[in-house]
Amino acid sequence: MDKRDSNDRMQDIISLCKRRGYIFPSSEIYGGINAVFDYGPLGVEFKNNVKRDWWDTMTRMRDDMVGLDASILMARRVWQASGHEDVFTDPMVDCTNCKGRFRADQVEEMSGDPEVCPTCGKRGTLTAPRQFNLMFKTYMGPIEEDAGLVYLRPETAQGIYVNFENVQQSMRRKLPFGIAQIGKAFRNEISPGNFTYRMREFEQMEMQFFIAPESEEQWFDYWRERRFQWYLDLGMKREHLTFHPHGPEELAHYARAAVDVYYEFPFGPREIEGIHDRTDFDLRRHIEFSGKDLSYFDDATQRRYVPFIIETSAGADRTSLAFLCDAYDEEVVEGEKRVVLRLSKKLAPVKAAVMPLSRKEPLVNLAHAVHNSIRGLGLTQYDDTGGNIGKRYRRQDEIGTPYCITVDFQSLEDQQVTIRERDSMAQRRVAIAELPAILAADLAS
Ligand SMILES: [Zn+2]
Repeated sequence: MDKRDSNDRMQDIISLCKRRGYIFPSSEIYGGINAVFDYGPLGVEFKNNVKRDWWDTMTRMRDDMVGLDASILMARRVWQASGHEDVFTDPMVDCTNCKGRFRADQVEEMSGDPEVCPTCGKRGTLTAPRQFNLMFKTYMGPIEEDAGLVYLRPETAQGIYVNFENVQQSMRRKLPFGIAQIGKAFRNEISPGNFTYRMREFEQMEMQFFIAPESEEQWFDYWRERRFQWYLDLGMKREHLTFHPHGPEELAHYARAAVDVYYEFPFGPREIEGIHDRTDFDLRRHIEFSGKDLSYFDDATQRRYVPFIIETSAGADRTSLAFLCDAYDEEVVEGEKRVVLRLSKKLAPVKAAVMPLSRKEPLVNLAHAVHNSIRGLGLTQYDDTGGNIGKRYRRQDEIGTPYCITVDFQSLEDQQVTIRERDSMAQRRVAIAELPAILAADLAS
């Protein structure tokens, strides 16, 4: 796609998200708030499906993983130990003319000249770069004083590290094992953007895998492959995914090796997940700052060591956006444009929609009975908005519903309904009595 087509494509997706109840700008009736978004009725179902699949894949389907839900507010010492208070910064420049503030490394890209203000266009009005901490601050207790300063966590990982001993001992775990967590994190980004890709409030799906030092390469390779495969298993197109290994100059201060999974968004290839070999950096820092011994005694080898950690860190919002972009498709059917979200059946927010051909009795009674018989399969819709059945199909296509069930006058006689499939638009008649089992099998396939 050239740049203009890519912009159009992104606008189409954003507009569909708003129109169909996936994603709304936050506080919209007050003019919105920059880079904060709300998930609508379909968006919350869809994102929950993404998170649930991650959670099941990482915890329920494995013997070597447990879950955790740590709090957003943590002791300030945590962020001193992690290094965030000192080094979680971006270099910023201010414009003395228009008071604009920009990330120093983005000025040239924005204005075309490192000396020119991107907002007012004046030359030579930008200050020297200063470091700006990305953590949101707030105060615990009734007085806004330094002693009560706390941060909204900028990542969920630290909640796992400080609970390593609690989890390991309460669950009687032996290494290697992992702790998985899904939760909100906050970063006061200077230049957020690209819809829900870079937000100031976002959700992470992070896993920390605790291992013996000598097995770091083996587990790093293992998790890199497993995490890549997760996207493919949920139907993401292989040609839109790449690995991006970090060079020595890109590596974070805590990491020995790191590789990102990149997705080819309409606005360009961007990271959706990182796999990091964090060595024993995190636990060593917490040993140093807390004074607690977080080392592990390995019964098998009669050896005591500080565990190494392989981290997989995915953004729930970024990943969800990638799935949406990947699923968005337009085609021409019988001379008309058809927009269809080809979401995996696992991720689709609405699994099936029941459509009575008319709003009159006794068809309505039968249609409600058909609807009630499939409610257990996941979120379903009952669409009796009337009018053209084709229009109702198109609306379900746009939100990615895999199956539409049409109840027509013939159904009253032969106790059969029509199943219409989203991607192929193929239709078939099935007995109402067999519909739940047929749909269950189709949704699982
Ligand atoms: Zn300016």
